[in-house]
Amino acid sequence: MAKYVLPDLGYDYASLEPHISGKLMELHHNKHHAAYVKKANETMEQLDEARDKGDFTRIGGLEKALAFNLSGHVLHSIFWRNLTPKGGGRPTGELLDAIEGDFGSFDKLKAQLTSVASTIMGSGWAALVYEPLSSRLLTCQIYDHQSNLAQGGLPLLVIDAWEHAYYLQYQNQKEAFFDAVWNLWSWDDVTTRFESASEVDLMVPQTVER
Ligand code: FE
Repeated sequence: MAKYVLPDLGYDYASLEPHISGKLMELHHNKHHAAYVKKANETMEQLDEARDKGDFTRIGGLEKALAFNLSGHVLHSIFWRNLTPKGGGRPTGELLDAIEGDFGSFDKLKAQLTSVASTIMGSGWAALVYEPLSSRLLTCQIYDHQSNLAQGGLPLLVIDAWEHAYYLQYQNQKEAFFDAVWNLWSWDDVTTRFESASEVDLMVPQTVER
């Protein structure tokens, strides 16, 4: 059976400093993300067990645990690749065209996404998402790791807004953290995700009128 594994970051823990400290990155990746991987695998094992025994009395809780932990694994895996030591600046080419078409300008996207992150009540993520029905970009305010994301939407760029993502370094100044990540974005990574997401076809009849 396939097992979920903690991916390598592709850069050193300390290489995102001063924007994100090495200590915070190590804790976030090696403890928090690792825990989601472990729990996603455990939940899959428990589902196997339930099928073997023909006992589905705990299925509701297991599905909830799977959605939470697997989504945590997916979002963190994307987040690490969205970040890069010499990042920041602005996207170019078709991604920039799409941002300008769907949000008006890059600065307006930045303001919207930062505001999505800042206003999360409790734990969640701000995400720039490709929406395949209308072939457009959206922002989503994801609760925990899995709720409030429109079905079919593919996250291209995500901001972890859980306290564990910033508290060690920024304490209650979360806006400073949401600002700092804009110095780290790998627009090459986001562009590759955008190109790949653009290929997705949900195979439904016409659902959008232009
Ligand atoms: Fe996190």
